[in-house]
Amino acid sequence: MPSRRPARRLEVDVCVISAGHVGLVTAAVFADLGNDVTCVDVDRERIGRLKRGAVPIFEPGLEEMVSRNVADRRLTFTTDLDLAVRRSQVIFIAVGTPAGPDGETDLGQVEAAARGIGRAINGHKVIVNKSTVPVGTGDLVREIVERHAPPGIEFEVVSNPEFLREGSAINDTLCPDRIVIGARSRSVAMTLLELYAPLERPMLITDVHSAEIIKYASNAFLAARVSFINAIADLCEQVGADVGQVVKGLGYDPRIGAEFLHPGLGYGGSCLPKDTESLLRTAQERGCDFPLLRAVIEVNRERVPRFVRRMEQALGGLADKTIAVLGLAFKPNTDDLREAKAVELVGLLLERGARVKAYDPVAMPAARPQLEAAVFCDSAYAAAEDSDALVIATEWNEFKLLNLERLKSVMRSPVIFDGRNIHAPERMRQLGFVYHSVGRPSAAPESVAGEMR
Ligand code: NAD
Repeated sequence: MPSRRPARRLEVDVCVISAGHVGLVTAAVFADLGNDVTCVDVDRERIGRLKRGAVPIFEPGLEEMVSRNVADRRLTFTTDLDLAVRRSQVIFIAVGTPAGPDGETDLGQVEAAARGIGRAINGHKVIVNKSTVPVGTGDLVREIVERHAPPGIEFEVVSNPEFLREGSAINDTLCPDRIVIGARSRSVAMTLLELYAPLERPMLITDVHSAEIIKYASNAFLAARVSFINAIADLCEQVGADVGQVVKGLGYDPRIGAEFLHPGLGYGGSCLPKDTESLLRTAQERGCDFPLLRAVIEVNRERVPRFVRRMEQALGGLADKTIAVLGLAFKPNTDDLREAKAVELVGLLLERGARVKAYDPVAMPAARPQLEAAVFCDSAYAAAEDSDALVIATEWNEFKLLNLERLKSVMRSPVIFDGRNIHAPERMRQLGFVYHSVGRPSAAPESVAGEMR
């Protein structure tokens, strides 16, 4: 990936708190734009690996960008927050905001970062909240920093929610649809406007609370689209319609559009599940009933159990069946397993007594510890060998390009459950598969179709 560094520009000293998905990508991109960036994390092992030149997460283009900027001395890694804060003008908080036990957002990491900033702050700083945080967290960060800072120190707290998607994070950060800056005034937003100016992307300045809500509203809306089309897919299954055609018919309407209307196993990952729960929680706390969002979450929760019930019915039970599962990551081009529907699926299959042979192009090292009862295979074909059925759980490109005749030849029984609708039913039928997908009529060669009726 070429450097996007502009020819002439004032560089800024930036601190990014977190070397996680968002933190590392943010740090690498700001360094690539010509700024001096210190990336700080409490995870000593992670920082140690980064210092040795190893990038701990799989993200296309990231390793190259990190090593280029480390070599050029614009990007450094440390566990020393004091040092990182003191040498920076702009401090990004990009730490995790996982869900707590009741769906509320656990702000522990954000609070710790704010305390650390407060203790280290040595002059005027712009503190930027990039983590996804419930409305009001900007105020909380301000209070915490104030409480720990020496008297008389001035600082600003700005909200700058992150919209990158894992798997295309570098590109999304270099070329975002929009940059949202929530600040007390335009002059406060100015530092960030300048920092982002080289990207030449649309920037929206709002108040802090609105910026915080924009992030949750965006994710909840995306989740709603997924659950909506999944509910339509269920109806299609009942009446013998084809949800693929329905999506096309919907998508031509410019008010609707075809993006993010993919029927399947539902949404997973580190953001949509926890952010929808968190928004629901915030709404409830503020006395706003949000039944629509409750339904979105409920539909999504039922996706995998419903899919497994269909498998059970079609296979006459799962006990002692060998099931190949292709894909473990929550989506393609990442090794992230957080809230991955594939992991939930494997868990349910094992619970029902199936023997699971799994394959994922990059997520297997991360998956092994949490799916100990599964057998991990070196390729899709090895997973398919002697299987009674095969499930496509993550839509990796590799699975779209499989040699299906070879796949069929190694399976004990040519039955495919496509949880991501990546193949065409008619083609699968012609190849001799019994093929089940989501919201589309099942397909089978004539000889088997007779038995299925
Ligand atoms: P992550 O879990 O990958 O990374 C968090 C990192 O923060 C970890 O490396 C952890 O060690 C570090 N950390 C925790 N406390 C710290 C502290 N006090 N000081 C320094 N480092 C600390 O998380 P992520 O996926 O990058 O998400 C970060 C935030 O961005 C979350 O709020 C998330 O909702 C949001 N977000 C994530 C994505 C995504 O695709 N992952 C996209 C948009 C927004």
